[in-house]
Amino acid sequence: MLYKKLAELYEELDSTSKRLEKTEILSKFFRYLPESDRETLYLLLGNIYPEYSKKKIGISNQLTIKAISKATGINDKEIVKEWKSIGDLGKVGELLTKHKKQSTLASHVLTTQKVLENLRKLPELEGKGTVDKKLSLIVELFTSASPIEAKYLIRTLIGDLRIGIQESTIKEAMASAFFDKDKEAAKELEYAIDKANDLAEVFDIAKKGKLKDLDKISLEVGKPIKVMLAQKVKTIEEGFNALGKPCAIEYKYDGFRLLIHKKGNEVILFTRRLENVTKQFPEVVDYVKKYVEGNSFILDSEAVGFDEKTKIYKPFQSISQRIRRKYDIEKLQKELPVEVNVFDIIYYNSKSLIDEPFEKRNALIKKIVHNQKYKIISAKQIITDSKEKAEDFYKRALKDNQEGIMMKSLKALYKPGRRVGYMLKMKPEERDLDLVIVGAEYGTGKRSGWLSSFILACRDSKTGKFLEIGKMGTGIKEKEEEGMSFHELTEKVKPLIIEEKGKTVKIKPRIVLSITYQEIQKSPNYSSGFALRFPRFTSLRPDRSPNDISTLEEIKKDFSSQKRNYKYG
Ligand code: ATP
Repeated sequence: MLYKKLAELYEELDSTSKRLEKTEILSKFFRYLPESDRETLYLLLGNIYPEYSKKKIGISNQLTIKAISKATGINDKEIVKEWKSIGDLGKVGELLTKHKKQSTLASHVLTTQKVLENLRKLPELEGKGTVDKKLSLIVELFTSASPIEAKYLIRTLIGDLRIGIQESTIKEAMASAFFDKDKEAAKELEYAIDKANDLAEVFDIAKKGKLKDLDKISLEVGKPIKVMLAQKVKTIEEGFNALGKPCAIEYKYDGFRLLIHKKGNEVILFTRRLENVTKQFPEVVDYVKKYVEGNSFILDSEAVGFDEKTKIYKPFQSISQRIRRKYDIEKLQKELPVEVNVFDIIYYNSKSLIDEPFEKRNALIKKIVHNQKYKIISAKQIITDSKEKAEDFYKRALKDNQEGIMMKSLKALYKPGRRVGYMLKMKPEERDLDLVIVGAEYGTGKRSGWLSSFILACRDSKTGKFLEIGKMGTGIKEKEEEGMSFHELTEKVKPLIIEEKGKTVKIKPRIVLSITYQEIQKSPNYSSGFALRFPRFTSLRPDRSPNDISTLEEIKKDFSSQKRNYKYG
């Protein structure tokens, strides 16, 4: 397909902020898109492979600027100047391509295949001369690009497409294009996407119009799925009412979700954001091989840190660096050991278990996981219909430094990617949120040159948009001893800058933080309509994606329950 067609689609999508209109535009495009061009769907989300692939474009603003300079003959400084005044590097590229100084005799017509081919070579390059090779792959595309193609190539390279398309819009557009907007079909498509995590694969089946064939998408060891998520309850009674009695009650460990895949002798570990973290946890690979029976399986678990000497469980923030750190693995493994608590199994010896009831999956866990305390164990659990026993268990969990409890229906299936009403969490009323950094401000005086204030956003789950909810400046410095300071956060955030205006910068929404706050207030100053009073940094959440953060709906709920508490008690 001509890349021009895709760039025109991007323009059309960019021209409206209405979700329904976007869905219709996309739906028309899908009807026309041949199956052989299915990989164009990756480009629609700014990717070059399915979401879970480790291979990302990974090009900095600086290199993109260099490439624009090479392709247009305009020097770097002038490009940066334009960028600061216009704000959007894509638009700068569009403008400069219009006034291209160099001859365009060498240019060819761009196709989406060619764009994918060159972009896919970028993450493969290693070693000497990498930068030059990357540069020439990008320049090759730029020299053939028309102004609007250049705009979207640039936005793709720097990871900021700005067309407002989420996976959910793509799902709805497919339902509209191939199943006449059927609600059931939209659900089936969502389920298929959560299982496959590969839009092109789902598109291929959907285009044929056979809903039943979506069932054929099967789980595969080595291919991550989106995890099942819980809903909140305030009391044990509420939990029993929702689930029926008896039900399973487990510790809600304060760690991070770890999906364990095994086939033959190979073990692969994924976080819930589908990131492969096998290299970071060699000891876990070992535990799985030694202490879990079975030729092939996918386990769902929570890895939790503990103190090597006292064996007391530690909060997530003290081990979060293990998820990202790619060096000193052995040292870190000794200093920050983790225990894996297995709480679900979704695949075993070549068979999917997602349609089996929890009691059956649970029994299998007990059979195949040979508990090794402080290494790998099945999650601490009771099965009960007694409120008193459940309450005791809850208290024990808190005393053991865990977050609270999970209550689970024994009859329920495993639904990938869903927040389900048959897995419930109960924890003490705490004012904490997971938010993403979308902007920042440079400091003054002692902090000049460093970003010292960070703009945080929650997510509107209906539109997928990130909505600002407050600024955070305090709490970071105090955490210096745990490896987080303004300086470090600045270093993390700087490569993600997509727009600069005076002291304020816009940041690609990538970095997820846990924060605590004193109160939520209504506020016209932020796009969410709410503002947090005194937000304070708790920890980085490298295990969570921006799609997993607190939603506007949750914040509205917290806001009204806070008001109720204030009034009555
Ligand atoms: P939270 O911030 O409360 O962890 P969340 O939105 O990240 O919420 P939920 O699914 O709502 O995730 O809450 C359950 C989370 O608790 C799981 O995602 C998992 O990481 C963790 N967890 C700890 N222990 C268990 C357990 N025994 N069973 C299921 N999940 C557990």
